Amino acid sequence: MTQDFAGKVAFVTGGASGIGEAVVRQLAARGAKVVVADLKLDAAQKVVDAIKSDGGEAAAVAVDVSKMEEVEKAVQFTTDTFGALHLAVNNAGIGGKAAKAGDYSFEDWHKVIDVNLNSVFYSMKYEIAAMLKAGGGAIVNMASILGTNGFANAPAYVSAKHGVVGLTKAAAIDYAKDRIRVTAVGPGFIETPLLSTATPEETLNGLRSLHPVGRLGKSDEVAALTLFLLSDAASFITGSYHLVDGGYAAQ
Ligand code: NAD
Repeated sequence: MTQDFAGKVAFVTGGASGIGEAVVRQLAARGAKVVVADLKLDAAQKVVDAIKSDGGEAAAVAVDVSKMEEVEKAVQFTTDTFGALHLAVNNAGIGGKAAKAGDYSFEDWHKVIDVNLNSVFYSMKYEIAAMLKAGGGAIVNMASILGTNGFANAPAYVSAKHGVVGLTKAAAIDYAKDRIRVTAVGPGFIETPLLSTATPEETLNGLRSLHPVGRLGKSDEVAALTLFLLSDAASFITGSYHLVDGGYAAQ
C-alpha cells in the first residue's frame, strides 16, 4: 500500500457510514491521520477503532454539520488532536423527503438545505482558515449526479447539490493562490445505507437500470476518485466537478 498521505491530517464529515466511511478507511490505509466527524458518535468510534487495530491513526468527534458552532468545534478538535488540517471531505448528507416542490413543507426544505448545503459552507469556512495556517490544502465536497441533473420528487436535494457545485467553484477561485484546491464529486446512485434503507427493492432495480453499467456504484469506487482529487497527483485540478456515475450522465 502506498503511503502518499503520510503526514497529512484529514477531516471527513459523515465518516461513520457509506461513502464517508470508505473515504476514511482508504485515507487511513494510505497514511493519513483522520478525524471521523459524524452525528453518530458510536458509529464513528467503531470506524476509528477498526483503523487503530490496523495500525492507523484516527479520532472520532460528534458533530451536527447543520450547526455552524458545532462544525467550528469539530475542526478545532482536528487541529488540537493532530496539530494541523490539510485535507477535508465534506460528505455528510441526507436524502430528504420524496415529494414535488409544491408539496414540500418549509421544515422539510430547510432541513435538507441545512444538512446538505449550508453545512458545506460552514465546513469550508473553518477548514479554509485552518488550511491557510498550514500553507495550503485540498477540499472535496460530496455533491451528486443531481448536482447538475434534475430528478423527480427531490427538489430540495437537487437544489442543495447544485448549490454545492456552485460553492465549490466559487471557493476554488478565491483560494487558488493560497494553494487550497476545492473540487466536487458527483456520484451516481451508490449502494449505501442512505439509499438501501429507504428504498424498496423494486425502486432499487429501477435505479440500477438508469446506469449504463447496469448496477449501482460502490462506496469504494467513490472513495477512489475522492482520494485522487485529494492527492498531489491532482495538483492542477481545482474548481471542477467530477462524476463517478457508471455512465448515467452520458445518456
Ligand atoms: P450514509 O447515510 O451511508 O452516510 C451518511 C453519514 O452522514 C452517516 O454516517 C450519518 O450519520 C451522517 N450524517 C447525516 N446527517 C448528519 C449531520 N447533520 N451531521 C453530521 N453527520 C451527519 O450516506 P451516503 O450514501 O454515504 O452519502 C454520503 C454523501 O454522498 C451524502 O452527501 C449524499 O448526498 C452523497 N451521495 C450519495 C449517493 C448515494 O446514492 N448513496 C449518491 C450521490 C451522492
